[in-house]
Amino acid sequence: MTGRRPLRIDGARLLDAETPDAPFADLLIEDGRIAAVLPPGAPGPEDAERLDAVGCMVIPGLVNAHTHSHLAFAKGVHDRWTLELHLNHGPWTNALLTPEDRYIAAQLGAVEMLTKGCTAAVDLHNEIPMPSPEGIAAAAQGHVDAGMRVQMMPMLADTGLWGAIPGLKDALPETLRPQVEAIRFAGPEALVEAMRRVARDWPFDADTAPLGLAPTIPLHCSDGLMRACAELSAETGLRTHMHLAESKVQAVAGLSRYGESLTARVDAAGLLNERFTAAHAVWVDDADLDRIAARGAAIAHNPGSNLRLGSGLARARRMLERGITVGLGTDASSCADGLNMFEAMRTAALISHAMGPDPERWLTAREVLRMATEDGAASMGFAGRLGRIAPGYLADLAFLDLRHVNYLPLNDPLVQMLFVENGAAVRRVMVGGRTVVEDGRPTLVDLDTLRARVESTVERIRATVGERKALAEALAPHTAAFCQCLAASPFPFTRYGEFGP
Ligand SMILES: [Zn+2]
Repeated sequence: MTGRRPLRIDGARLLDAETPDAPFADLLIEDGRIAAVLPPGAPGPEDAERLDAVGCMVIPGLVNAHTHSHLAFAKGVHDRWTLELHLNHGPWTNALLTPEDRYIAAQLGAVEMLTKGCTAAVDLHNEIPMPSPEGIAAAAQGHVDAGMRVQMMPMLADTGLWGAIPGLKDALPETLRPQVEAIRFAGPEALVEAMRRVARDWPFDADTAPLGLAPTIPLHCSDGLMRACAELSAETGLRTHMHLAESKVQAVAGLSRYGESLTARVDAAGLLNERFTAAHAVWVDDADLDRIAARGAAIAHNPGSNLRLGSGLARARRMLERGITVGLGTDASSCADGLNMFEAMRTAALISHAMGPDPERWLTAREVLRMATEDGAASMGFAGRLGRIAPGYLADLAFLDLRHVNYLPLNDPLVQMLFVENGAAVRRVMVGGRTVVEDGRPTLVDLDTLRARVESTVERIRATVGERKALAEALAPHTAAFCQCLAASPFPFTRYGEFGP
């Protein structure tokens, strides 16, 4: 944006978590940032370009604090998978064969998010057996070419589901066990070296597409790998992001394998610090949350995915009252499924209402908006620079059409956005002051071209994953039965509404 004329946005109402009444104000954008918030009609630079935003409510672009672009082709592939069944089927649902496939998958996710008002995302991208500079950069480029701000978090694991859950592999029939044992994983040294290669020549600037790393799940990462990731993060300053105590199966398996909570184990490995984000954190207790708070780590709350996969209800109020930075995520298309941050906000609010009868304990509309904007941004390392409509902040903005039926009549702008908006009123979206969605359509990506590329890519991939899919389907009943037993075993606390279906 440097060198471009300033842009003046006139006539809109501006809503962020600090201005819940959505006052009328004009905005001045310079060099990709908000230069000033002006009283309506106040004088500004003579040479400014002008954008008439009368009838719009401008909100900060929403921040998706946890998603996975490698699963962008997997929306609606199942109706009743648990997390473990989701992982069981991963070898075919997340199969991407070339860097170009990763580019297209990421671009599809980016277009979905942008057109639904989300301008920044944390992408935990999985490349098997290890991340490559070409693969991760291709995914990042898919986002960037669509106009998305993205934090790329290559996923690292040195075992899979059958090595992660004690006893699961032994519970498989003799006929299937060798096929599972034949799946090979890279060791910690090779994974960290691969990550170093990705970091060494990372071609994106730190505001457009910062890099981090994502040791996937404690049980899927050896202690050695977790420690190596912690050391790499300390050395390079890269942020880390890990699924933590997402399901009861993980919590039970973790306790039996480690003799301590998953959170305690991750802390012992040196990961839990101010550069760390814990995704989900459903099956954590108060002591775990105290530990996360004391270390200054953030949490990515994924209420929709937690419902979709039956993982349970995370206690966002307890996180907030400890001062933990809580971002909001959709999770992947395979469990989200439309990557809609408005839906994620509403789900976060509604779940808090189901946690107990005292409305004072429910999340407020402002708290939910803060999670979906400035706190999500802070969890990406953009604290104080992204997620508000205030001078100095990056000009990532979504324009909602107040003439849309969603706002007829207009009562409380914030509450109405939270409980009514579904993305249908998103008219324009800007990232760094550049319009990337106009009249509800992406400006940098031709939808017909993207559609053709997605369809041909998916057709080609589907033709190659038959064997993987057949194996996953053969394994699924055994995975389900074993994990169901684990999930039914006693645990010190519950995160289910266990009063029966
Ligand atoms: Zn995830």
